[in-house]
Amino acid sequence: AFTVEQALNWLTKSNEKIQENKDYLSELDQAIGDGDHGINMARGFDEVVKKLDGNDYKQVADVWKDAAMTLMSKVGGASGPLFGTAFLKMSMAAKGGEAVSYDAFIKALEDGGAGIKQRGKATEGEKTMVDVWSPVVKQLKEAKDFDAGLIRDSSKSAMEATKDIIATKGRAAYLKERSKGHLDPGSVSSYYIFQALSDCIE
Ligand code: ADP
Ligand code: MG
Ligand code: MG
Repeated sequence: AFTVEQALNWLTKSNEKIQENKDYLSELDQAIGDGDHGINMARGFDEVVKKLDGNDYKQVADVWKDAAMTLMSKVGGASGPLFGTAFLKMSMAAKGGEAVSYDAFIKALEDGGAGIKQRGKATEGEKTMVDVWSPVVKQLKEAKDFDAGLIRDSSKSAMEATKDIIATKGRAAYLKERSKGHLDPGSVSSYYIFQALSDCIE
């Protein structure tokens, strides 16, 4: 099962990876967006960790809800409401319970990914963070138990595959064919979030 402690750890580790790669994320966004993705993510996740710190959480759903609210309110830019929606949907799916079973956890991630698609009016193949969330969820659904290696590998290959896509959503869509050859910044930050998750479950 996935515990409150793991949920807190996941967000702490996500924040660490995002802070370490803040400049890289902004460089990626300079190439096909407006150059602020690292700043947006670093600010948002720093605020999340501050918000979670010192609270005595009894349920995974409450951790995810506070993360969601913080990301939605503190991040300027498309990514804040999108990641915020993901964690909010996950919180709703996980409702109740000190720990979340594997099946419930996968359902939560599935709802989180669906929330991003709905909020962004996006689908697979448009060079957005959906192109990491969807394939990772799909592969996890086929696994029987928490599989850190699967999360690590599936998120990495999905993130790398965004390089070849021509963007049709988000700022990168303005570049049309010229968006090809660059990684999608939000897919790279999603990759860090999934790497952090894999670190927490093994
Ligand atoms: P902004 O584009 O407002 O500056 P960010 O730079 O923080 O916001 O985030 C950009 C990332 O958000 C993109 O790399 C992409 O992954 C994601 N994104 C943008 N628009 C959408 C959308 N409509 N649906 C899903 N994801 C999106
Ligand atoms: Mg940007
Ligand atoms: Mg911006």
